[in-house]
Amino acid sequence: MLDLSTVRPASASAFERAKTVIPGGVNSPARAFGGVGGNPLFIARADGPFLYDLDGNRYLDFIGSWGPMILGHCHPAVVEATIAAVKNGSSYGAPCELETRLAEMVIDAVPSVQMVRFVSSGTEATMSAIRLARGFTGRDNVVKFAGCYHGHVDSLLVSAGSSALTLGVPNSPGVPVGCTQDTSVLRFNDVAALAELFAAKGDKIAGVILEPIVGNMGLVPPTAEFRSELRRLTQKYGAILIYDEVMTGFRLGYGGAQVMLGDSPDLTCFGKVLGGGYPVGAYGGRADIMKKIMPAGPVFQAGTLSGNPVAMAAGIATLNELKVNPPYARLEEQSNRIGVGLLKAAASVNVPVQFNRVGSMWTLFFTDTPVTDLDTAKTCDTKRFGRFFWEMMDRGVYLPCSQFEAAFTCAAMTAEHIAQATQAGVESLKAVA
Ligand SMILES: *Cc1c(COP(=O)(O)O)cnc(C)c1O
Repeated sequence: MLDLSTVRPASASAFERAKTVIPGGVNSPARAFGGVGGNPLFIARADGPFLYDLDGNRYLDFIGSWGPMILGHCHPAVVEATIAAVKNGSSYGAPCELETRLAEMVIDAVPSVQMVRFVSSGTEATMSAIRLARGFTGRDNVVKFAGCYHGHVDSLLVSAGSSALTLGVPNSPGVPVGCTQDTSVLRFNDVAALAELFAAKGDKIAGVILEPIVGNMGLVPPTAEFRSELRRLTQKYGAILIYDEVMTGFRLGYGGAQVMLGDSPDLTCFGKVLGGGYPVGAYGGRADIMKKIMPAGPVFQAGTLSGNPVAMAAGIATLNELKVNPPYARLEEQSNRIGVGLLKAAASVNVPVQFNRVGSMWTLFFTDTPVTDLDTAKTCDTKRFGRFFWEMMDRGVYLPCSQFEAAFTCAAMTAEHIAQATQAGVESLKAVA
């Protein structure tokens, strides 16, 4: 690994300065490169598929702000719409029609969503959806799956116990046991464990939350049987099925993972792409459930900046572009091309890898074991991933700085960019062999 402090001195000194006033120098821990070693880049600006760091280096960006920037940075339609919105005032604390417009667009895109409530982050969306599921059913227990991330909601910050049916144990100091004692953690794709839990206490389960296609342990797709059992059991026991599509919504297709898969959850959480790079989250679903939210119903949830007009304008412009000029077929083809190139290169230098991909979301796992859940994801050689990450960085390709994250191809990437990234991957795999 190259020493960042000599290779990228401006980023290194900016990081030192930030660390004196911001814990760890970052405002979200994933940005700190803990999974790969070394210091994070400080970004000066972004444009199209590129990030530019303080030292003047340019990178092909396969993170896209961890999901939102599916159109690439500074898409003209989004820039124009947000500037126009800012000039009309940046926050009213009163309703405006932009909120209704974006709500109509979400409902039009996702058939299972009949009503939607906007918030300011994905975390707020999942937190509120859980509260609503509990308020609607009058039950407390919530089921989640190991390796799925739903933001930093207390009740969902639970690690996988070795025994899937044991009570959840908080994995962050500051989360009281009381906050997680009603959370059960199961293994993703484990149909038997799911059936066992419902048989034992199905009538106490308020809801089940999952990433229908997981991005947050690296890319892991669900089996068809797992999805159909989830729907069947939640329906049978009257539990609310919550799809957390904060990452997959409007990314795996205009209708997200659920339309791609043909699924119909009761509630869905959104964020990331929906805000087009601005702080937006949302939760929506069946009208009979959504009408329980205050002021229509008794379940409290509020937000000073919820439905912020500038963020709504960015979301409307982003969704409009995705609907009018759908990039999904091209993103699929380009992401597949990267995978084919990386798999071939890895085989030729005898580096065991798995390439998991759905649409524009993909992960190159450094393991010879097929990755279907958190346990198999953990078989990866994370040291080798770290070396690969820095080799790619030195070739101008910015990947997520952890083995357990999904990379994103964006619509601003041309065939030439994809070829460059693939070539960088071929060389980097050779370097880490
Ligand atoms: C990013 C993410 C969240 C949290 O969203 P924030 O806006 O970071 O709070 C929740 N769920 C999933 C699936 C995510 O990918």
